[in-house]
Amino acid sequence: YDIAELKRLDVAHHLPAQQDYKLIEDIGGSRIITHADGCYIHDGDGNRILDGMAGLWCVNVGYGREELVEVAAEQMRELPFYNTFFKTVTPPTVMLATKIASLTGGKLQHVFFNASGSEANDTVFRMVRHYWKLKGEPKRNVFISRWNAYHGSTVAGVSLGGMKGMHAQGDLPVPGVEHVRQPYWFGEGFGSDPVQFGQDCAAAIEERILAVGPENVAAFIGEPAQGAGGVIIPPPGYWQAVQAICHKYGILLVADEVITGFGRTGEWFGHQTLGFTPDIVSMAKGLSSGYLPISANAVSSEIVEVLKTGGDFVHGFTYSGHPVCAAVALRNIEIMEREDLPGRVRDDVGPYLAEALKRLNGHPLVGETRSIGLLGAVEIVAQPGTNTRWGGAEGNAGPVVRDRCIENGLMVRGIRDTIVMCPPLIIERSQIDDMIAIIAKSLDEALPILRA
Ligand code: PLP
Repeated sequence: YDIAELKRLDVAHHLPAQQDYKLIEDIGGSRIITHADGCYIHDGDGNRILDGMAGLWCVNVGYGREELVEVAAEQMRELPFYNTFFKTVTPPTVMLATKIASLTGGKLQHVFFNASGSEANDTVFRMVRHYWKLKGEPKRNVFISRWNAYHGSTVAGVSLGGMKGMHAQGDLPVPGVEHVRQPYWFGEGFGSDPVQFGQDCAAAIEERILAVGPENVAAFIGEPAQGAGGVIIPPPGYWQAVQAICHKYGILLVADEVITGFGRTGEWFGHQTLGFTPDIVSMAKGLSSGYLPISANAVSSEIVEVLKTGGDFVHGFTYSGHPVCAAVALRNIEIMEREDLPGRVRDDVGPYLAEALKRLNGHPLVGETRSIGLLGAVEIVAQPGTNTRWGGAEGNAGPVVRDRCIENGLMVRGIRDTIVMCPPLIIERSQIDDMIAIIAKSLDEALPILRA
């Protein structure tokens, strides 16, 4: 490739996702990622970068899986596309639905397909409201979500999400979405008993239900552990309390497992790790390890029985159940089963990451490290032993440390004052050591920058 020319064309013609277009212009174009293998990405300037983000929280089986390439090519030759609109379906679509139902288990026996995580949550939005209408409770149309949640970039995704900056762009949320506090102990409960804090955050949901009127509330939606919000892992007991509240008022519980699905937390799904039972699960990303775009909703039999009473549910996408994406997702799950990647995360690399992160404790910039499975975070503070932030001319500290990490050969994300990581599930212990060493070095380098 002519990398300089690609960068020029990038500025001239390409609008990237969730970016400051002017900033991309100022830096002379985005970094061009040319190829990848295992846990490493390579850029056009010849840098090899350890991918601490598994792409965008998705490449769970790592890069370079030839069998995924082959299965995609085979399916394209056999049948590159067919839809599910005409009382038609393709073999990989049915087989993938069956596989997902076996992994979610219990009452989650039905699967609807979309192409992205955002679309999966749009499906939730319409399906849940439609369900309550069919049940004869049309007033139940309010969703309760958390501030700082991320549920996607579509209108329903942004509305369900709790990112104020996103709400401001596009005049969202749409009516009928209520946001309550997130169970972010380090940021918002620091100094208090974490378990009690979690209970208080759950109680805030009940308070809002009562304020809105339980007869008006359709569903609560949450990420088992918030990802894009800064890897916020709720205190023990939070989800059990949330589930009990939903049951008490007959409200549906929706788990957005777009990040926490497919082995990330050490079980197939985050709700299994955290011990609760949703009525609907949204999943994407790790479903195909990002090799092709596909997402799904696992839906309870009880909901589907009600939907069956309503005739056509006029909802679906051209790419719902896309056969090539489904074939790749099936093989991706087969790889995860064959290599027992969820078990590897639960018993080996997950606990290893948690221990390795502790090496950063004691650094003057580190306020807390935390992880669940292979989802980790480092909180950057201005004063050790506190949760005070840097602020000032540099703004949030996360991006400062992130930029040092990338320069030092590790891709991580800086979210406000938090460094987050989500490496491929195939990562080796020695690569986790490398990750932590690079973060430590980058923190050292960030200190004078932040103090300046
Ligand atoms: N939900 C969660 C929890 C996510 O993390 C994301 C993406 O990061 C989405 C939904 C949106 O998924 P997509 O970007 O595939 O639309």
